Amino acid sequence: MKRVLVTGGAGFIGGHLVERLLVEGYEVSVIDDLSTGRLSKIPRQVEFFHGSVLDKELVASAIANVDACIHLAAIASVLRCNGELVSSHEVNATGFLCLLEVISRSNSLVPVVYASSAAVYGANETIPLHEGLRTEPISPYGVDKMSCELHARAAYEVYGISSFGFRFFNVYGKGQDPTSPYSGVITKFAERIRRGEKVSIYGDGEQTRDFVFVGDIVECIVAALRKDAKGANVLNICTGQKVTVNELARLITSIVGAKHDVEHVAGMAGEVRHSVGDPKKLLDQLGCRASTSLREGLRTYLG
Ligand code: NAD
Repeated sequence: MKRVLVTGGAGFIGGHLVERLLVEGYEVSVIDDLSTGRLSKIPRQVEFFHGSVLDKELVASAIANVDACIHLAAIASVLRCNGELVSSHEVNATGFLCLLEVISRSNSLVPVVYASSAAVYGANETIPLHEGLRTEPISPYGVDKMSCELHARAAYEVYGISSFGFRFFNVYGKGQDPTSPYSGVITKFAERIRRGEKVSIYGDGEQTRDFVFVGDIVECIVAALRKDAKGANVLNICTGQKVTVNELARLITSIVGAKHDVEHVAGMAGEVRHSVGDPKKLLDQLGCRASTSLREGLRTYLG
């Protein structure tokens, strides 16, 4: 496999992935509409298609001659999707369908690796969350990610398009935009703690999360590209370690070393209480896992 297309390659995870793919010797093309992504994240040797994954002609030209497609383009914010039902559905669900349709009509049925999310588990608070459990999304974002998984399955049955859908848990690392109201909790906490500002925690802060270092996400995507597996596979990418939001704030403080006050604010609609994944299936199928501990990852990111 030589050439891959990355949708959303100018984003947080996409930027790390593109960098790594080039190091691995892949030729890389990117489609991105730069709605949250940055042009500066796209290295010069990458062929860049500026536009939306909803533009099927653009997708068709970007996909010609690639051996695989990694689909990350999305409105990646639960909050923003809550407020923009139709437009977020168009990008997060219809955007994936556009990609599948273009592939189904092309000469080669290239495999797809796509970003799903732990949000598909939603109200299911079994600990740890594993892929055999019932999905119960409770946010529009989670529903749209679930529909991607269902369509990936149908695309395999109807057209023979193979895929890996990765349920990313909470991803963190360099390049998450701290000025964005939608960026991850770690980036927001770290920025505020550094500036000595008050940290806002939704609810009592005892909700748990499974924080995954972005380098581990990239590692698993590259492993999936090498695998050439058939079927519509769905796998968690998680550490299996649960951390409360209060513990997270204390850990960041110990690394950043600044004093700060905490305020507890009303919880966000569609926010799940507990979310901790089971990494076993990923390990069994791809031989990899998100192995960076939160302390180690935070030191790399914030240290
Ligand atoms: P991001 O916002 O940094 O990246 C998304 C990229 O997609 C951006 O570059 C944006 O410009 C681009 N984009 C948006 N709409 C587009 C469109 N219509 N056409 C083309 N490009 C478009 O977000 P991220 O954190 O890097 O997320 C990448 C993927 O991982 C997303 O699918 C997201 O839903 C998923 N995910 C992320 C997390 C996380 O914790 N960051 C967790 C679960 C799933």
